[in-house]
Amino acid sequence: MYDAVVVGAGPAGGMAARQLATAGFSTLVLEKKKIVGEPVQCAEGVSRFGLESNGLRPDASWIEQPIDGARCVVPDGRSFFITHLPGYAIDRAAFDRWIVEGAVDDGAELRTSTRVDGIERRVGGWRIRAGSEEWDARTVVAADGPTSFLAKRLGLVRSQDQIRAYEYRFPKDAVDLPDPDRFLLYIGERYDGGYAWIFPKGDAVNVGAGGHIDAHAATVAFCRERGLDPERRERIIAGTIPYRYDLAAYGIPGFAVAGDAAGVTNPMNGAGIHPGLFSGRLAGQFAATALEKEDAGVMAGYDRVLKQSPFLDPLLWWIIERVRRWSDRLMNTVGGELDGLDWRAVNLRFAARTVLRKPGLTLHSKEFLRMVRALELCEHYGW
Ligand SMILES: Cc1cc2nc3c(=O)[nH]c(=O)nc-3n(C[C@H](O)[C@H](O)[C@H](O)COP(=O)(O)OP(=O)(O)OC[C@H]3O[C@@H](n4cnc5c(N)ncnc54)[C@H](O)[C@@H]3O)c2cc1C
Repeated sequence: MYDAVVVGAGPAGGMAARQLATAGFSTLVLEKKKIVGEPVQCAEGVSRFGLESNGLRPDASWIEQPIDGARCVVPDGRSFFITHLPGYAIDRAAFDRWIVEGAVDDGAELRTSTRVDGIERRVGGWRIRAGSEEWDARTVVAADGPTSFLAKRLGLVRSQDQIRAYEYRFPKDAVDLPDPDRFLLYIGERYDGGYAWIFPKGDAVNVGAGGHIDAHAATVAFCRERGLDPERRERIIAGTIPYRYDLAAYGIPGFAVAGDAAGVTNPMNGAGIHPGLFSGRLAGQFAATALEKEDAGVMAGYDRVLKQSPFLDPLLWWIIERVRRWSDRLMNTVGGELDGLDWRAVNLRFAARTVLRKPGLTLHSKEFLRMVRALELCEHYGW
């Protein structure tokens, strides 16, 4: 009988395992991949705040390049700053391994090549199965990625709306970088609330697209328009990102769902590393308290805290649903007004001046104001 079984060794599972192992509980991490983190399914961007607010110090073993923030590029090519907050382009596979190795250093066991395919309640905990093997645990943290196998098996998932993402990793010399120090997010009607991206990363550049779209076709088109030859790619990366998940609960007695499995990815930009670290850390901490107090009901606290967190603020979906209705023309108008500026330039004076010049924008004033609030939220929590 383990105190805890954590399923999935991504950022969420690794963080949960760290909390449990550091607190001295016998912890088993089960991961279906042969090598943790491989193959990578990520554009590999994370903010320094996302790391440090979860107690992680940026480490040379997985940092590829410091990043000065991000810019949003509208269809006619003009752009504005989304954030100046510093962050990093990382080696995602090395990062995932570093996190889970921290848990192993504190006594957790890691089993790779182990795909969990069953869970059932037992007196005092759970029985977890992978093929012919089984383990008993007092607590389970499900950090098994966007398919949420365990949460589904327990009937916690009411609905899952997902987006697709696809990207090429190019060698640096294959891409004429418009901004070598920032992540660039290209929006447009064709991305249906999603975007295409150019993310520099040391000797490489990740270029892709994601949204409620054919992400492969959008990536190929985006590359061709910029004279990028897909044949020069070093790697193809593809995956699913939670857009909106509806779970009956994130925590029930003795069980927590974290990271992509819980659908906490930011719908504004698909960023899930920071929400994964946050929810994984929280799930691990609540699980450790539940074990300490011998009270599985403590996990209801995880459910409450996660629901109240900025990562699940309904405003984020509200805004993206509105943006999905925006025409290229409207995006260009907004981009034109903010060209070269920061969205923080939007104050009452700025709004009044803009509306005098472009009275048609008054129709969208509620959206713009809420957009500013959403961007404020994303400034810290969004990447
Ligand atoms: C193309 C793409 C680009 C992205 N770019 C960014 C970005 O730049 N920045 C950012 O913040 N986010 C990005 N994301 C999102 C980010 O990668 C995820 O949100 C993040 O990985 C979530 O972490 P997690 O630990 O919850 O899940 P995962 O990283 O998916 O980890 C889940 C783990 O569980 C394992 N697993 C699954 N099922 C089982 C099972 N049955 N048994 C055992 N193990 C299992 C998986 O193998 C995996 O290792 C991107 C996603 C995609 C697809």
